[in-house]
Amino acid sequence: MTYDVFDGHNDLAWYLREERDYSVEGLNDPSVSPFTTMDQLRDGSVAAQYWSVYVHSSITGADAIKATWEQIDAVQRVVTAYPERLQFARTAAEVVAARNSGKVASLMGVEGGQQIDESLAVLRSYARAGARYMTLTWSTTHSWADSATDEPQHGGLSEFGREVVAEMNRIGMIVDLSHVAPSVMHQSLDISTLPVIFSHSCAFGLNPHLRNIPDDVLDRVPGNGGVAMMTFVPSFVSNARREWVEAGENGTAPEVTVADVADHCDYVRERIGIDHIGLGGDICGIDELPTGLGDAGQYPALFEELASRGWSESDLRKLGFDNAMRVLDAHEDAYTAFLGTSATTDPATTDPSTGTAGKTGTAGMTGTAGAAASAGKGL
Ligand SMILES: [Zn+2]
Repeated sequence: MTYDVFDGHNDLAWYLREERDYSVEGLNDPSVSPFTTMDQLRDGSVAAQYWSVYVHSSITGADAIKATWEQIDAVQRVVTAYPERLQFARTAAEVVAARNSGKVASLMGVEGGQQIDESLAVLRSYARAGARYMTLTWSTTHSWADSATDEPQHGGLSEFGREVVAEMNRIGMIVDLSHVAPSVMHQSLDISTLPVIFSHSCAFGLNPHLRNIPDDVLDRVPGNGGVAMMTFVPSFVSNARREWVEAGENGTAPEVTVADVADHCDYVRERIGIDHIGLGGDICGIDELPTGLGDAGQYPALFEELASRGWSESDLRKLGFDNAMRVLDAHEDAYTAFLGTSATTDPATTDPSTGTAGKTGTAGMTGTAGAAASAGKGL
């Protein structure tokens, strides 16, 4: 039994930039693209994907804006080149439509707030192009927000940083709190009127890596309605692996397995409940993935492991797809108002698996009928 996946973070676009000079040729060939091929997406039952449009934080100002648009262009060219597998989506309704036609609904997420160059107009231009979330920082603190892995400069969010969060709420762009300092997590949860995501993080309580989510932040996620999407980055997943990295990577790297990722799923579920956990592999963003989760086709191994631990089919649907979909759906009114389109699609015609009323009908997401058949940057 496989379950559809709505993955929070895949760095294929950055991989194409760094390794392929932005060529979108050959993405059916694992020797060209080892971590994400069209067949792997099918094998993994990936039904929706936030493709990351990341640029390294050493790229700043107008260059960062240019590089971000190159990344957006890369994602759009990939989607155009593989129409049998991918379908562009901006709204929740379009995700439903893509999923029902067996395609991977392809959305984008901007990773790193420096890419807006302190301009809300630039932020809005990314959102309009289909970037449905923005990770407020990457690995370095920038002019308006502190990163978890750098020196704080603002005590969290600056005044402008708070304006960014408010504007993201207004336009229906999801606030992503992976990478940010705990102070930014708390302040964003204070400010945000809409559910947040952690697009690719694990639990600090299980492995105290700075990139993971502290317990006191996790505890606030149910009240916000958000979702913590567990990532596969080995040093975030495994204590032993983190310690090995911190000690200088001498000798053989401790193996990280599917069971280690499942441990984070169990931990977060136990702490904040089944409705607030999802998956964000960070596939293509790292050079190595856990044993058994080595590419975009391997998600079923994680579901199998969790099923063996007693997770029900309903639990696994929530983990894989439904919780992430709920957060996107919660932004639909604000986003379609921002685009200047009202909610465009009648749910009854969009998703034949449900006759229920209500926007895109999250209830319909849980149905099985009509469902899809289906050079790392360091973090
Ligand atoms: Zn990242």
